[in-house]
Amino acid sequence: MHPALPERGQGTIQALKDGVNSPFSRCSLPTKLLRQKFKPTHECGVFAIFGHPEAANITYYGLFALQHRGQESAGIVSAKGTESPFTVHKGMGLVSQVFSPDSLERLSGTRAIGHVRYSTTGSSTIKNAQPFVVDTGRGQIALGHNGNLVNAAQLREELEAKGSIFQTTVDSEIILHLLAQPRGSGGVLSALRRIEGAFSIVLMGEREILGFRDPHGFRPLCIGRKDGAYVLSSESCALDLIQAEYVREVEPGEVVIIDNSGIRSEWPFPSTRKAFCIFEYVYFARPDSTIAGINVSKARVEMGRELARQHPVDADLVIPVPDSGVYAALGYSEELAIPYFPAFVRNHYIGRTFIQPTQRIRDFNVRVKLNLILDAVKGKRVVVVDDSIVRGTTARSRVVTLREAGAKEVHMRISCPPHKFACYYGIDFPDPDKLLANQCTLDEIRNYLGADSIGYLDLKGMIAATGRPASTYCTACFSGDYPVPYDAAFDKFIMEKRLGRIRLLEKEQARLL
Ligand code: SF4
Repeated sequence: MHPALPERGQGTIQALKDGVNSPFSRCSLPTKLLRQKFKPTHECGVFAIFGHPEAANITYYGLFALQHRGQESAGIVSAKGTESPFTVHKGMGLVSQVFSPDSLERLSGTRAIGHVRYSTTGSSTIKNAQPFVVDTGRGQIALGHNGNLVNAAQLREELEAKGSIFQTTVDSEIILHLLAQPRGSGGVLSALRRIEGAFSIVLMGEREILGFRDPHGFRPLCIGRKDGAYVLSSESCALDLIQAEYVREVEPGEVVIIDNSGIRSEWPFPSTRKAFCIFEYVYFARPDSTIAGINVSKARVEMGRELARQHPVDADLVIPVPDSGVYAALGYSEELAIPYFPAFVRNHYIGRTFIQPTQRIRDFNVRVKLNLILDAVKGKRVVVVDDSIVRGTTARSRVVTLREAGAKEVHMRISCPPHKFACYYGIDFPDPDKLLANQCTLDEIRNYLGADSIGYLDLKGMIAATGRPASTYCTACFSGDYPVPYDAAFDKFIMEKRLGRIRLLEKEQARLL
């Protein structure tokens, strides 16, 4: 038992619940903050198909497979032949809630793009739901974006100064305005050269569909083939669902153009260092997806194996935290020959829990998502394998639950390094001063969680588990090594705040006049 904990029994559990032994004072994390639960949130999925009579229906199923990348809103834009008007259907909620047989029937046509959204910039409202559609001098354009632009505020200011009127507070709309510039100001490719940061984008024009990735390749995008039609998808799991053949990745910096004459590529960006988000392998991507030739579940099993080699422990049971801890736990269990048992059972049918819990029912919010098979852990020394600790509140709740169930020892193992830095490339982490590992030492984290031991996979081990060189990855949230300079003042509501400031200035000006 960890020496800092009080005697085992109700006192221990109560101490954990009350924050006794917490390193808050040393870590300067306010207790209120640490009571908030947090998991990093997914950051949008995109899908497109060209040249299929059931384009919208296939896109609908593609979005189902990408639902894990965004649950706030979903949308599809479709078109029949060349130069026919676009049909749009968007709504707030899950794919199954947004579309109906009627809405899908209205989305007839042979080409379509789709989007599922989690808001990494701009608030979660229907006006920010994608794909966006605009009428331009080049005809209609629809766009779906995964990622974050790091020069969004600067570009928006510039465009507004030239008379652009924005409808939303999302950075993705900036790309549309750049594309809508008069023809004399350069083509689509020169517009794309102006944007910086993370972007995997599908774009539909009057005759074609485009798919492109930023030159660093932060976010995934792959190409498939279905009944002779070309498909683009954030992840290959969507290709499996629609029984499309996987063709290849869209390469970082590549623009693929799909039209009646087939598929071709352009390379408008200067070559630069690659920076695929390694956290896609750890947590975001679906385990049945293959990215850059590496199956995500396989990478996670390898991470678990390496974690076991780096932080072995003598225990009776390895327990995964579902869902993304499952494969790492499997690897950990195999490597040390400790039995694996999925003792946490996930409830798959909950949406959002909306009750602000009182002290008395605080634990219900945690238990409604994951319940523990009590008999499996009673009297056992257990290793809990999770994919990350952000604020630490969820991990702490797991330890409390296990101790309440009578686990003899609880050892936490994490299949990536400590999260110490913010992400400016499309993942919604809290500010660094709200990240547990940024504020606390390893020993303080262990003490706060109430665990007997803690072990994180190190950076080298995480990268090695994927089988690709370190030079191909972004690891900024672990290492602080940012591949693209970012706006330090960035937060997801930057556009709203900008608008707020402008309105205040306008009011002030009006008052003075
Ligand atoms: S900072 Fe982290 S989460 Fe963001 S892109 Fe880089 S590795 Fe991914």
